[in-house]
Amino acid sequence: MDGIKLDKLTAKYVTEIKKSDADLAAALAQLEYYLIVLYDKGIFRNGRLECLEKKKQNKSIHILTLTEEEIEERKRQYRRIEEFLSADVPPAPVPKPACKKCAYYEYCFI
Ligand code: SF4
Repeated sequence: MDGIKLDKLTAKYVTEIKKSDADLAAALAQLEYYLIVLYDKGIFRNGRLECLEKKKQNKSIHILTLTEEEIEERKRQYRRIEEFLSADVPPAPVPKPACKKCAYYEYCFI
């Protein structure tokens, strides 16, 4: 559906299942995106992220609820990302103290 592939959809949740919680922030961002795609279709659900642990004996469960304000904020973020990706040239880098020791310095400033 619109580029998303749901693991499970119930009356209460969109459930995303991951093999581990190694990249929890990315998994939650993915689930947020799914909630927003469904929201735009008039389908309102909470998110449920299930991270399986070793040998599938345990799993951690994270429940995700987005308010309408949070959905609108995420949509603004998605639009900024799309604008960034479609720009002909990247924005000028903003120097930070960490840049001096950063392995990517040459990509950003040279
Ligand atoms: S990637 Fe490194 S050099 Fe580039 S802006 Fe970030 S910290 Fe600075």
